[in-house]
Amino acid sequence: MSDLMRRRISIFGSTGSIGQSTVSLLKHQGGKKAYEVVALTGASNIGLLARQARELGAKVAVTARADLHDALKRELEGSGVSAAAGPAALLEAAAMPVDWTMLAIVGAAGLAPGLEAARHGTTLALANKESLVCAGSMFLNACRQSGARLLPVDSEHSAIHQAMTGETTAHLERVVLTASGGPFRDMPLEQMADVTREQARAHPNWDMGERISIDSATMFNKALEVIEAKVLFDLDPGQIEVIVHPQSIIHSMVGFTDGSIMAQLGPPDMRGAIGYALNWPERRGLPVQRLDFGLLARLDFQPVDHDRFPAIGLAYAAASLGGLAGAVFNAAKEVALDGFIAQRIGFLDMARLVAHVFDDMSGEAARYGTGYGLDDVNGTDSEARARARLWIENNSRV
Ligand code: NDP
Ligand code: MG
Repeated sequence: MSDLMRRRISIFGSTGSIGQSTVSLLKHQGGKKAYEVVALTGASNIGLLARQARELGAKVAVTARADLHDALKRELEGSGVSAAAGPAALLEAAAMPVDWTMLAIVGAAGLAPGLEAARHGTTLALANKESLVCAGSMFLNACRQSGARLLPVDSEHSAIHQAMTGETTAHLERVVLTASGGPFRDMPLEQMADVTREQARAHPNWDMGERISIDSATMFNKALEVIEAKVLFDLDPGQIEVIVHPQSIIHSMVGFTDGSIMAQLGPPDMRGAIGYALNWPERRGLPVQRLDFGLLARLDFQPVDHDRFPAIGLAYAAASLGGLAGAVFNAAKEVALDGFIAQRIGFLDMARLVAHVFDDMSGEAARYGTGYGLDDVNGTDSEARARARLWIENNSRV
């Protein structure tokens, strides 16, 4: 294939769980012979970033950490790959012309580079759900103005996207987001207070990054996905249902006005949703297991227990309030997660902390409506983080 025909691709967060799966699919589909890799970005794992960049012949490798610039340069010596570092370099990378971008930075840190990519009009495969939770209307506006196409990578939203193929939103009545329920799906509340980081990150079905795995155990991940679904598919919160489905085989469902339901099924393997976004609107053979209905004895469903998983109720409140209530919710959640990982607060404290900060700040944050800019998002995020840290100071176990 000639250089002219190669698709230009960038991956933000290439060293993470989604990023590595994306790199492996690119290699599976021809690697640098098929793709012109423009930018790969990471943060701390510069050894892996440099290896990926050499292997795929990237133009530039960027670490978000300015302090690691020299180390990255050393790793890339003689490779022909440029090394760059720091937040401004991430934005420059996001402005480089490409045909397809994977946005797989974790957390609110993904918002600024994602917005920049959205402003430059390309096809965006969006794994970073936090962008939509914190600043959904701004993100969608940026896409509309530039003509960027947004393809969800989160498996639930990819499922909805797939179920909507050939349908119109006018006929959409509701969406049903499935949740595995995580490792503590059936654990009594009293025991949940003492679970450890190791227990919380051991997801029963999906192999994911640590942060999203713990967010699955609290169901904060599903909570973020409620807000993500509202933004992506322009839904009222009342049109979104969450149901626990322990097998993670049905990735989500769409209910239409005639009562019919379309579900998308597959093995719990993110390469399915990543490959769908990479090859859309085509489909290509992916190296994922095929479902065997002979072995798949049953599919179970159970309602969410809101006493044990208060995150879901908070997310509906954030989705109903709108404005920057989602940014408050996400920032408090990120600090709570840091606090749990550092063993400063317990598992159930995470939801307590988020509820506290959310009660304090969400009413005010909602008043922005859709009239906010990135500075407002960052200001709200910083204030929510400060209040969350204060809560940890006052309630810390150590
Ligand atoms: P990981 O933690 O595995 O990877 C995160 C990536 O972001 C890494 O490349 C990391 O670099 C980079 N990064 C971390 N901090 C920063 C920062 N401050 N600035 C810039 N880059 C940073 O996350 P996942 O791959 O699990 O998740 C990525 C996104 O995809 C999240 O939004 C998550 O919710 C979403 N998602 C993930 C799924 C999964 O299966 N993992 C499923 C569905 C959605 P480094 O590692 O080099 O430090
Ligand atoms: Mg998901």
